[in-house]
Amino acid sequence: MEQPIYSLVIPIYNEAENITEMYRRLTHVMAQLDGEVELILIDDGSSDRSLNAIRELHHHDSRVRYLSLARNFGHQIAVTAGLNFVQGKCVIVMDADLQDPPELILKMIAKWQQGYQVVYAQRLSRKKESWLKRLTAYIFYRFLRLMANVDIPADTGDFCAMDRQVVDILNTMPERNRYIRGLRAWVGFRQTAITFEREPRFAGKVKYTFGKSWALAVDGIIAFSTIPLKISTYLGLLSAGIALLMIILVLYWRLLDPSSPLIGFTLITVAMFFMGSVQLISIGILGEYIGRIYEEVKGRPIYTLKETGGLMKVSEVSPK
Ligand code: UDP
Ligand code: MG
Repeated sequence: MEQPIYSLVIPIYNEAENITEMYRRLTHVMAQLDGEVELILIDDGSSDRSLNAIRELHHHDSRVRYLSLARNFGHQIAVTAGLNFVQGKCVIVMDADLQDPPELILKMIAKWQQGYQVVYAQRLSRKKESWLKRLTAYIFYRFLRLMANVDIPADTGDFCAMDRQVVDILNTMPERNRYIRGLRAWVGFRQTAITFEREPRFAGKVKYTFGKSWALAVDGIIAFSTIPLKISTYLGLLSAGIALLMIILVLYWRLLDPSSPLIGFTLITVAMFFMGSVQLISIGILGEYIGRIYEEVKGRPIYTLKETGGLMKVSEVSPK
């Protein structure tokens, strides 16, 4: 088997209805490529017949290789696992639900051949996604840009082509909190965008529930910004300022205007709640960071594998 030039990495979580169509569209694209391709499908602990469908593809087409994680680890970890096994010089990451049109891969590869190490797909629109998802995504990506200490382009997902150099660096990053679109921007080199219209899902349900999307958003911000930690300081300063104003007010009433109405109870209650919330918010923010530090220091493996097909860990293929 020749060493592939192109590796396609596709995470799959309960996408049985999509796999055949995805493979059909991809074979067209693969036929147009100018070199060997490997298709790496990562089963992220699916509970439907995705893994069977993947095994069948593997038996019938030797370019299809796969890993199966021992349980559902989440999209970002599934991609991470795939990247650990790729052998190609140009690595393409895409979703299995055909929201990322496979035909775009050719355009990405053309850019890679021009010498870009990262070519990421930027969404112009999100057809048929709910207005709530579009609105929250719009706000989030801009908020992230405001907060993050690396320039993470807005409206980009994980759909991208990366040079081997970049993948090797991603594979040396030990962190388990993997916000791939952020890490990819962090790496640097020559990066460029190509724009596209995000298609609706081919079949099946969206796997990113509101809860998962929220968790991904928080992960992104915390992994790339320490500004939230500073927010507590400013909240503290703000509440100290308000307290000072109150002291002045109370002194004025006591000493200079004894006839003024007594608003003590209300004032104390409001102040109490205000201080309480400032403190709880600050502790909560601290908690988000400390929780992640705890996760990192445990140093557990990032994922566990139950099965692979046609693959060897790249570090075993070419030890550093
Ligand atoms: N996915 C995964 N593990 C998960 C959730 C999702 O591997 O826990 C995969 C999913 O099968 C799909 C991709 O990640 O190929 C993106 O998921 P989805 O389409 O649900 O998200 P969205 O398109 O809304 O970003
Ligand atoms: Mg999708």
